[in-house]
Parts: sequence; C-alpha cells; structure tokens
Amino acid sequence: MSGAVAVFGGTFDPVHFGHLRSALELTELLSLERLLFMPAAQPPHREQPAVSAEHRAAMLELAIAGEARFSCDRRELRREGPSYSVLSLEELRLELGAQTPLYMILGADALGQLDQWHRWEELLTLAHLLAIARPGWDWPEDGPVATLLQERGAPAEVLAATAAGSVCIQTLRPQAISSTAIRSLLQSGRSARYLTPDSVLEYIARNNLYSATGEVAQE
Ligand code: ATP
Repeated sequence: MSGAVAVFGGTFDPVHFGHLRSALELTELLSLERLLFMPAAQPPHREQPAVSAEHRAAMLELAIAGEARFSCDRRELRREGPSYSVLSLEELRLELGAQTPLYMILGADALGQLDQWHRWEELLTLAHLLAIARPGWDWPEDGPVATLLQERGAPAEVLAATAAGSVCIQTLRPQAISSTAIRSLLQSGRSARYLTPDSVLEYIARNNLYSATGEVAQE
C-alpha cells in the first residue's frame, strides 16, 4: 500500500539529531510518503515544557527544512486542553481514509508508559505503533504493554499491508541524545553544538531560550 503516513509526537524541547535521524531512517524503512512531527502543546504525561509551543514548533520547522517528506503539524497547538494523541490520530484517520497505513512513532521510554495514555486501547484501532529502541531503555516484561507486545507485535515489513493494529519495535542507529541533556548544557552555559542543527542553536540564541535567565513556557 502506498501513501503511508507517520506521526512523530513529542515535546521537542528542543528537537535534536536523535529525533531527526530516527525519523529519516523510519521514512526509508517504511517507505513513508509523509512524516509529520507533531509537537504537543500540553503534554499530559510529563512536566510542562521549558519553552512555549510556538518556539518548539518554530525550531522543528528550521530543523526539517529541506527534507520534503517531513513537515511540522501544528494541530495540537490549536486544540484546547491536554494534547492527547488519540484525538490527533482520530482526526488524521478521517483525513486519510480507512485504507492508508498510519504509524504513530514513539521512543521506547514512551512505549513503556503507554497504558497511562488517554484511551490508550483505541490507539491501535487508528494506527500502527512503531517504537524506537532507545539507548538506556528496556521493554516492559509484564503488565498491559507487555501483553500488547505479545499479542500485536509484528515486523516492520508486515505492517505496511494493513492500515493499523500492530506494534513494531525497531532498532535504529542509536543516538544517545536527549532534549534534557541539551537544556542542561545550555543552562550551565556550555555548547550543545553537534547535538541539534545549527539553525536550531541560532534560534535558541536569538530568542534567549534555555539559558539560566531565558524564557519560561507560556502556553
Ligand atoms: P526530554 O529529554 O525532554 O524528555 P526527549 O529527548 O525524550 O526529551 P521528546 O520530545 O520527549 O524528546 O521525544 C519525542 C519522542 O522521541 C519520544 O517518543 C522519545 O522517546 C523519542 N526520542 C527522543 N530522543 C530520542 C533518541 N535519541 N532516539 C530515539 N528516540 C528518541
């Protein structure tokens, strides 16, 4: 089936090469037509971001400029209330129709907590889940997410034959980079160069983000 679309949700506070390289590898692996980075305005499962959603989306747009298959989808910035993925997937499913393969990409750390997500059992009715093995994180060995992996786990090649309903764990080129590490470097006055594109670092400097005296999030 062609026209496959993936959604890569996250806080992107800020986006970094771990996100970007993983997205590119998955685009090739899954023969994606489009990959949508979807910044969460108000992530429901974690502390609130360090900078505003507008800044985080602006940095994403700079980071993906030039890669035609990538775009930044701002629907969660426009929606009121917590940024529940199930609502975004419902909207996308309506836009794409029932037959188009739709993937929700998430890191291993996020997959481990999937059963705490809003209406989590409905996610697989809307999309496939593609989890990226991430350095330092393990899979749950028991509980609802472990059961889901046993019952719905499938290799990436199989996923494209259907529109939704399977879970795939994919090992990509490991990138031990996190937004937390970047924020912490910047807050202590050190460089975050080579962890994220220069265009993102220039935006951070221009807008005085993440420094000890920089802006705090205002959603
Ligand atoms: P933070 O350090 O603030 O928690 P993060 O680096 O994990 O941020 P997020 O915006 O929270 O970045 O991540 C969005 C998604 O990308 C999550 O599903 C996360 O697991 C995944 N992800 C983040 N960094 C990497 C990486 N280096 N390799 C693979 N996946 C990643």
